[in-house]
Amino acid sequence: APAPPPARHLFSDPAEAEALRRNLLAWYDRCKRDLPWRALAATEPDADRRGYAVWVSEIMLQQTQVATVIDYYNRWMQKWPTLQALAQASLEEVNELWAGLGYYSRGKRLQEAARKVVCELAGRMPRTAEDLQKLLPGVGRYTAGAIASISYGQATGVVDGNVIRVLCRLRCIGADSSSPAVIDRLWDMANVLVDRSRPGDFNQALMELGATVCVPKSPLCGECPVKQQCQAWRRKLFGKAPPVPDVEDCGVGDCPLCPPATEPWDSSAGVTNFPRKAAKKPPRAMRTATCVLERRGCHGAPEYLIVQRPSSGLLAGLWEFPSLPLAQDLQEEKEKEELADHLQAWMGRPVAAKGLQFIGEVIHIFSHIHQTYVVYSLHLDGDVTLDPALSPSRWVTEDEFHASAVSTAMKKV
Ligand code: SF4
Repeated sequence: APAPPPARHLFSDPAEAEALRRNLLAWYDRCKRDLPWRALAATEPDADRRGYAVWVSEIMLQQTQVATVIDYYNRWMQKWPTLQALAQASLEEVNELWAGLGYYSRGKRLQEAARKVVCELAGRMPRTAEDLQKLLPGVGRYTAGAIASISYGQATGVVDGNVIRVLCRLRCIGADSSSPAVIDRLWDMANVLVDRSRPGDFNQALMELGATVCVPKSPLCGECPVKQQCQAWRRKLFGKAPPVPDVEDCGVGDCPLCPPATEPWDSSAGVTNFPRKAAKKPPRAMRTATCVLERRGCHGAPEYLIVQRPSSGLLAGLWEFPSLPLAQDLQEEKEKEELADHLQAWMGRPVAAKGLQFIGEVIHIFSHIHQTYVVYSLHLDGDVTLDPALSPSRWVTEDEFHASAVSTAMKKV
């Protein structure tokens, strides 16, 4: 078993932990943002519906800003107000509503999990974090803790990016905050700190503090309700780590939670010395040729060909213009030839590479991929018979394109 962390990095004084809970909850009651899922969680009497409402919000909020999520959330809950309604939806409908929110597998997994609850759990949401994580696909430790504490009042902590930042600053944790050892300590701390009588509010308050006050750059320490319990703030103010009664200072030996000796406290960074992360791997560069094929539809309006991506992997099941990943550093002529061959397979007739018109390049950053779309266009005369043996494809007007389950990257194209 790993050695217990040095007391400096814990809330070892119960009075200090209690003051933090009190200050944080009082601030939350005064300042919390009015968000649709909070209103539902507070007023919905049916426990399964409450759990579902929180679950949808938590999945949407993963890697997406609150301001973006609100509209998607309202439309989702209007269309599928219950687990049962979602379980009956098609993946196509889910992808259409999710289009533009990114990380599309989240919507798909949410719907699969709803089907599981309806078909295998008699429509009853699991009530504890342990069961939620065990029984629902796509529900990890954080989401399980959030649903259980907010919807069912289980006294269990949560750790997300905001909580990591706040806790690392509160306790001057400067070791790599993405390392499993530090993450485990933060979970322990969150579980100890969580308020027993208002766990859901406490967890939301901690996350809210990270989202609105203890922000990554330029945190608003002057307005912070827990600055008196914050070691980073005191260190910034007094220029050194605050004393901890009866505990030897750490940070000079090989404390597993202090910043590494090679990267000591930087006084110009103040509280933003924490948290620290190991350098991220740079995103992988990819080039993809994509062709906007255009024809005159029966009413004379232009129509465009879109094809469906495979049902697994990046952007699974979404629609796109016919696209082909390219090797790096291909000459333009060679790119056009490869794309023409690819289009020929779709249309079952030769496509002349010289007919492809280069339009420009579109860059889109996925979390781990720096994608460059090399965009071509091709106008077709007459009708085209698409090969039904290939992936599903269809002709759409511009309006239909925007209403389809297409990614943000394709909308940019
Ligand atoms: Fe964050 Fe500053 Fe508050 Fe500390 S005092 S928790 S660093 S906002």
